[in-house]
Amino acid sequence: MLQMEEAVDLLCAQVQTIQETEEVELLAALGRLLGEDCVAQQDQPPFPRSPLDGYAVRGADTASASPEHPVRLRVVGKLFAGGMFDGTVGPGEAVRIMTGAPIPKGADTVIRQEDTDYGIEAVFLYSSSLPYQNYCPAGEDYKKGDILLEKGTVLNGAAVSVLAGAGRQRVRVLRRPRIAVISTGDEVLQPGTPLTAGKIYDSNRFYVTSRLMELNCPPVASLHCGDDAEALAEEIRRLAPSTELILTIGGVSVGEKDILHRTLELLGAERLFWRLAVKPGSPTLAARFGSTLLLCLSGNPFGAAVHFELLARPVLARLTGNPRLTMKRERKLLRDGYPKGAKMRRFLRGCVQGDAVRLAQGNQAAGALSAMAHADCLLELPAQPTGFPAGKEVWVYLL
Ligand code: AMP
Ligand code: MG
Repeated sequence: MLQMEEAVDLLCAQVQTIQETEEVELLAALGRLLGEDCVAQQDQPPFPRSPLDGYAVRGADTASASPEHPVRLRVVGKLFAGGMFDGTVGPGEAVRIMTGAPIPKGADTVIRQEDTDYGIEAVFLYSSSLPYQNYCPAGEDYKKGDILLEKGTVLNGAAVSVLAGAGRQRVRVLRRPRIAVISTGDEVLQPGTPLTAGKIYDSNRFYVTSRLMELNCPPVASLHCGDDAEALAEEIRRLAPSTELILTIGGVSVGEKDILHRTLELLGAERLFWRLAVKPGSPTLAARFGSTLLLCLSGNPFGAAVHFELLARPVLARLTGNPRLTMKRERKLLRDGYPKGAKMRRFLRGCVQGDAVRLAQGNQAAGALSAMAHADCLLELPAQPTGFPAGKEVWVYLL
């Protein structure tokens, strides 16, 4: 049986990193990948400015100032942030200045107001300053022509604020991958409809859809289809021309109602693999239909989740060019034991606690949902005939 890593390589070889870009409003670019090198159009700050409230002066005038021998200067103006002083500060002169205001011509430093008598017509300075000591030069942060952010940068809040500071109202970003999600199953009802005998609510479609949204790859379509191979094939035919990836859930095992096999046959899709040596969720199936990749997850909620995280995320990383979409893996000490052995490696839901990991609270069965909401990682137990003892190291994949 195929190993997870081999399956990831096979899937990633099927998709290409999206190169197309589009322009969006700055705040809509949050979480997106920058589609251009962003070059500063002006110095930041654009003018020399005062780093404090005080008096803009010529440093040379203040050389002898001390509490015992204050220097007296004539105050020739007052300047708030946003204002401009038209004249030049001459020898023996000072301009009252507030933080962020442009330092007037002639002045080369600022004496903080706590070191003065706060004079209005004339001011006594009790301390000296060297030229450019209390002075933010133009371009202190960056200069016109500097590359602020490179193409491919993931735009987090800080990056968005840098772009705003540079005056960008809109920004070019890489196009998002186009992904569709289809859950299957005649027993699966949508939340909001009454629960009837033998039915369950569709949790998997919401898992996959909301995880795609969390990973900044919101699907273009998310829908449910009954166990009808023809109808499912029709949906895939409709969606494939406008998607790079279609994720289906359920119907990949060997039962009579496991319709994905028949669906792929009807489509004439090229099968890439079926079944991986991973518990839970092993019957995962992958195929290529035209230029669209079909990744068909098992319906068991935790199986679907494991294979989404471990298989679909590397595909998203490849499609977007954002390697951070792949899960990060670390070694941790497993504090709990697990009683069941397995012929293949097994994933469980865990919670990281420093250098250790514990099993997440709740039932770990593949069909159980609630433990997932308490987990912050998947932890991997190696294939082994007997249970896994507490106190040994395991791989942990951070969610
Ligand atoms: P399947 O892979 O279709 O054989 O489904 C395996 C198990 O997962 C069955 O118990 C299904 O009822 C359940 N299941 C399938 N799809 C979903 C879904 N979308 N939400 C919740 N459970 C599901
Ligand atoms: Mg089913």
